[in-house]
Amino acid sequence: MMEYDLLLAFILGLLIGSFLNVVIIRIPKDESIVFGGSHCVSCGNKLKPWHNIPLLSWILLRGKCAYCKSSVSLQYPLVELLSGVIFLAIAFKYGLSFASFFIALSFLMLLALSVIDFKYKMIPDSLNLLAIFFAVFGAWNVEGVMTNFTNALLFSGGFTLLRFALSYYLTSSVFRAGIKTKTSWNRHYDRTPFIEAMGEGDIMVAATMGALLGVKLGLFAIFLSALLALPVMLLLLGRSAEEQRVPFVPFLAIATFIVFLYDSQIMNYIKANF
Ligand SMILES: [Zn+2]
Repeated sequence: MMEYDLLLAFILGLLIGSFLNVVIIRIPKDESIVFGGSHCVSCGNKLKPWHNIPLLSWILLRGKCAYCKSSVSLQYPLVELLSGVIFLAIAFKYGLSFASFFIALSFLMLLALSVIDFKYKMIPDSLNLLAIFFAVFGAWNVEGVMTNFTNALLFSGGFTLLRFALSYYLTSSVFRAGIKTKTSWNRHYDRTPFIEAMGEGDIMVAATMGALLGVKLGLFAIFLSALLALPVMLLLLGRSAEEQRVPFVPFLAIATFIVFLYDSQIMNYIKANF
């Protein structure tokens, strides 16, 4: 039975992932998600249902539009595959249930946020709110929902405090530097690095992380995300300031997923060593 459950979860993930691609393309453009069928972004031709089968269509059409043969972004099969894998992994961990479905949907929202942050360097509030909603209600009883909600508040509150303290530190140190040369204050104030690194969007992502992981594992996930981002940031050293703005949500999302899957192992490690 377990194998059928996993297959079902994977296929469900693929289908929802296919819809997620529509969300990722249309939300940054402010287009309706529900209205208007799928169409090729190059030639505008409406897609037939068999052009729209997750993964398979892209493979069978060799990544090209059936009408104009222009290449179809690798984003489509990749998001579908990742969605399938997310659903599969969570079904493997918790079996099929309402709670695991909600948890998987929360991770799918994090996936969409990651792709949008990576492509457009923006973090839509709508998807962030949905991610928190699914994470908080991804529980097996009322008590679990309350715990998730408390952890979401604790974690986003902690992030807000940290952000406040860091902004104060950076702004005042920039200000002190500015007393020496008045022009440099103006110059640095516009690109205070912190505001780029941790915006309101990241605080909302932190709320989702708190709800999904709890405080201890959440902190571990933040640490892991910084560790994952470090090589990328090192690679971008010396580039222009604009290029150095690394989208951080993908790293937060990947770290959250890893820590979620290996929660008991990581918790044992924390207990044994700290
Ligand atoms: Zn086309």
